[in-house]
Amino acid sequence: MRFIFASNNVHKLAEIRKCFPSGYEVQSLANIGFSKQLPETGKTLRQNALMKARYVYDRTTGGCFADDSGLEIEALNGRPGVYSARYAGPECTDQANIKKVLEEMNGITNRNAVFRTVITIIVSDVVLFFEGKVKGFITHSPLGYNGFGYDPIFIPEGYQKTFAQMTASEKNEISHRSIACRELSRFLLQYQIN
Ligand code: IMP
Repeated sequence: MRFIFASNNVHKLAEIRKCFPSGYEVQSLANIGFSKQLPETGKTLRQNALMKARYVYDRTTGGCFADDSGLEIEALNGRPGVYSARYAGPECTDQANIKKVLEEMNGITNRNAVFRTVITIIVSDVVLFFEGKVKGFITHSPLGYNGFGYDPIFIPEGYQKTFAQMTASEKNEISHRSIACRELSRFLLQYQIN
């Protein structure tokens, strides 16, 4: 069984592939030669995940899923949240986003944050949502070089290192995305969706 993952993010693709059950193939947009820009103008993670999955589903054949993720910082009233990808402006880099967050957090002692993922899957016109979250803390400076996005400034609760200081498999054990992906995998296996 083949599902298309509606994302151009190679890091997400690698994480998603690791937690999909055997017997299911995850194809990237690059694999199927789909190069259109995905719409991402929703106001919530759920709206964005649905928008991306629907856009690709309507233009391809078979099942399709998308994720939308964000970092919600308590002291910043949930920002960057749904705007995580472009927090420092359109086309900005991960480093620029991190710099902006750390500047806004300067002098703030409440470092609580949550990484959240919503996955939307569409199969045979049926739409389903799966969610994952991981609580943690924002560091005072970037630490580590693995992963992507805000990984260098996020320490998950119960750990002493950032996501970027973890190996890919350590992060995948506990991350918001892998939690949502495991829920999706359980569903596929339970109902033998194919
Ligand atoms: P989107 O889900 O493609 O809209 O991406 C949201 C943004 O959130 C990404 O560009 C990253 O900056 C950030 N993000 C999402 N998931 C992660 C993660 O697992 N680690 C670090 N940053 C992430």
